[in-house]
Amino acid sequence: AKTSYSTRHVLFDPKIHEILLARLQMETELRRAIEQDAFEVYYQPIVCLQAGIISGFEALVRWNHPTWGRVSPVEFIPVAEEARLISLIDRWVLQAACHQLRKWQQDFPHLDYLTMSVNISGQQLMQLGLLERLDGVLQETGISGNQLKLEITESVIMENTASETVLLNQLRTLGIQLSIDDFGTGYSSLGRLHQLPIDTLKIDRSFVNRMETDSEGYEIVRAILTLAHSLEMDAIAEGIETSQQLVQLRELGCNYGQGYFFSPPMNSTEAAALLAANRRW
Ligand code: C2E
Ligand code: CA
Ligand code: CA
Ligand code: CA
Repeated sequence: AKTSYSTRHVLFDPKIHEILLARLQMETELRRAIEQDAFEVYYQPIVCLQAGIISGFEALVRWNHPTWGRVSPVEFIPVAEEARLISLIDRWVLQAACHQLRKWQQDFPHLDYLTMSVNISGQQLMQLGLLERLDGVLQETGISGNQLKLEITESVIMENTASETVLLNQLRTLGIQLSIDDFGTGYSSLGRLHQLPIDTLKIDRSFVNRMETDSEGYEIVRAILTLAHSLEMDAIAEGIETSQQLVQLRELGCNYGQGYFFSPPMNSTEAAALLAANRRW
């Protein structure tokens, strides 16, 4: 009798009830936001470390709720994934980001090398017709496939089945490049890495964050760079916050960097102003 009491106690824990209610509420609000196009895309520059110039941007979704204010994607993306709403959001972001890149190409014709990186959830990857949709967005916005990069997290890409590998290879036929996001936090099989059509490894910011003060962090970054380069992939260091991290990454031959040291994610107006300013690092 004691056991069943404690089970009941756990089930009716008011805290769990509160959490479930909050989740349900957020799901309802997310559906409304999708219907009303209430999201915005922010852009964070990706810097070519050799040339010290902006080579492209990562598109990051932002949600400004009428009463809750700014809700972090760290909070709402997992809810959107669970509610199977994420591919609707990702689709919206993809379209908005490609239109934005097209506009920048027109406004800054000398920056024709700029790329746009867009995050793709595992759910969107597995949706039928992804390839056709991507092709449609390229046609509609007039940007070419090799200016678009899709970021997929390490765990998603490693769980892939044979048919998804075929799909990833088909992306190549459109010229679209693939990056592995948060690399080093999952469990990559080196054999799989070699088989998949991956162009770029994005070194998770937890390692970049530690490299200055902690020799283990430094060695991990170095090892990932060696791996990337021996597989003929580019590497992007995420979360660069200090000039010392930048110095170290340049010494190690890291190709690209991203982080608050260069710029936080910005709205499109601010990002355009940064492009116009021709900043160099
Ligand atoms: P992520 O793809 O790893 O994106 C990088 C995150 O690190 C962004 O957080 C960015 O603002 C933050 N960041 C950039 N530089 C620095 C830095 O120097 N220091 C620190 N501490 N943080 C930095 P954000 O925008 O809050 O996004 C969080 C996560 O939400 C993203 O991580 C991504 O997994 C997900 N996400 C964002 N937008 C989308 C989207 O459109 N679709 C999907 N599926 N996921 C998205
Ligand atoms: Ca990303
Ligand atoms: Ca990342
Ligand atoms: Ca992340």
